[in-house]
Amino acid sequence: MVTTLRISTTARTALLDVTGQVQQAVRESGIKNGICLIFVPHTTAGITINENADPDVKQDILTALDRLVPARGDYRHLEGNSPAHIKASLVGSSLAIPVEDGRLVLGTWQGITFCEFDGPRQRNLVVKILAG
Ligand code: ZN
Repeated sequence: MVTTLRISTTARTALLDVTGQVQQAVRESGIKNGICLIFVPHTTAGITINENADPDVKQDILTALDRLVPARGDYRHLEGNSPAHIKASLVGSSLAIPVEDGRLVLGTWQGITFCEFDGPRQRNLVVKILAG
């Protein structure tokens, strides 16, 4: 079973906590034990796991990515959004998280974070739960 979650982003760049939505998809699958695959079918957005407690961590990650990948540079891509493509590749486009007793096995401070780098847009997040 594949579930596609819809995500609305409201800024050019943003890190959004989607842990609750993914956990709900796990619950609705009825699968108690297995692997939750999360996939972002976009080239200017990504997915990562990081701290959920202090919102400053998300801002620090965005600031550091801006430092690594400046908005202006000698980019060739004519669409003009090469920084977004590069950031998406840096954070990656998929995660695999163990599921036990119907719950995502995440560390205390970990949250699943959708990474928008070329918003605002409507985005999809593909979730597939494999029993095992
Ligand atoms: Zn592009």
